Amino acid sequence: MRIKAVRGTRDITPDELRKWRYVEEVARDLFRRYGYREIRTPTFEHTELFVKGTGETTDIVEKEMYTFIDKGGRSVTLRPEGTPSVVRACLENGLFGQLPVLKLSYIGQMFRYDRPQAGRYREFWQIGVEAFGSADPSMDAEVIQLAYQLVTEVGLKGISLELNSIGCKRCRPRYVEDLREFGKRHVDELCGKCVERIERNPMRLLDCKEERCRIVMKEAPVILDYLCDECAEHFAKVREYLDLLDVPYAVNPRVVRGLDYYTRTVFEITAEGLGAQNAVVGGGRYDDLVELMGGKPTPALGFAAGLDRIVASLEAQGFEFPIDEGIDCFIAVLGREAKPVALKLATSLRREGFSVEMEHLGRSLRAQMKTADKLKARFTAMIGEDELKSGRITLRDMKSGEQRSVEEGEIPYILRRGGFSDGADAPS
Ligand code: AMP
Repeated sequence: MRIKAVRGTRDITPDELRKWRYVEEVARDLFRRYGYREIRTPTFEHTELFVKGTGETTDIVEKEMYTFIDKGGRSVTLRPEGTPSVVRACLENGLFGQLPVLKLSYIGQMFRYDRPQAGRYREFWQIGVEAFGSADPSMDAEVIQLAYQLVTEVGLKGISLELNSIGCKRCRPRYVEDLREFGKRHVDELCGKCVERIERNPMRLLDCKEERCRIVMKEAPVILDYLCDECAEHFAKVREYLDLLDVPYAVNPRVVRGLDYYTRTVFEITAEGLGAQNAVVGGGRYDDLVELMGGKPTPALGFAAGLDRIVASLEAQGFEFPIDEGIDCFIAVLGREAKPVALKLATSLRREGFSVEMEHLGRSLRAQMKTADKLKARFTAMIGEDELKSGRITLRDMKSGEQRSVEEGEIPYILRRGGFSDGADAPS
């Protein structure tokens, strides 16, 4: 029996990867324009990092982590999200001292033992940013604008950005208490998971997907009524800046996000075409996390975009990904004697920067030309008996079908020009 990929994981084949690369390139270029530098952290960490960072009462830590004991007896976990690792890495490498505002981006696989379905995998990719050092609402606006620009620049349609503030250590406890009381009064109407949440993490009652819970929670107290003056003012400023920047959003007091470390601003972006799993970006401010991880108090915020979902929604929306260019030149080889000439030609063209493929199978010219077509070769160079005798090479423009006998030295010029000409700029 053939061994299959593990449930919830999948392969990204070259044809699909082309689409991923396109999204990644848009993101990389945007991050550069916004001043982010990339960081790479390990895919596994001490389990404690996520228990402490992501939060003990989150779904992620409670039931979705890939945790195992390594051969040295350590409990390690495949990262379920990027933020705790980035914070740890900054502390460990002294990055916080380097710049007053430190902006980092990352891309990588995340692992969550969740129920697999369309748009939800156990291994998936996130591309995200973290900005440390500023508590100013203009920073929130800039990060949200970046997230919004990312999803629009890649070409997604039917975007909606939902924004909320979940307050701070000072104002949130009173809200959580009232929410708990509300939950207790409605305990008979809630799902089993939510009944547990009443004690452990009442905020999570707000993002339960069960219909009956959603109906009950429509009547629940709203965090925005509980914000302290500072948080309310911060939120008002964030909205003012977003208006100034023409970033469209809707305030939704039910967006609370699944992670414990958020403070104040939280946001989520959804896109059309994905059905239930339509969230493509999630993010927010986390002013207490750096201190919680043992650093100096450092305000921060960030977001993570789901690469799998961005690609899937683009596909669902019928987006035309940039076309695969194909190779510059295929070298057809006829007979063994032609091999050394072909190998040399391939080498010199590749050195010049061209993408070149040559025949290694010794097939008929017809079969080789078919392959050249399949590889979308712009030109085909043919080397056979006649060419060996004359010392020239037959070059075919695969678009026009025109074929000429040329000097080897002319080929780079023709390739670069993208067609034959009268050779005015060829070497003499
Ligand atoms: P989160 O870290 O849960 O806020 O997720 C941020 C983004 O990552 C989401 O908006 C999704 O696009 C993506 N994402 C989260 N979980 C999964 C998953 N299991 N499979 C695929 N994408 C995911």
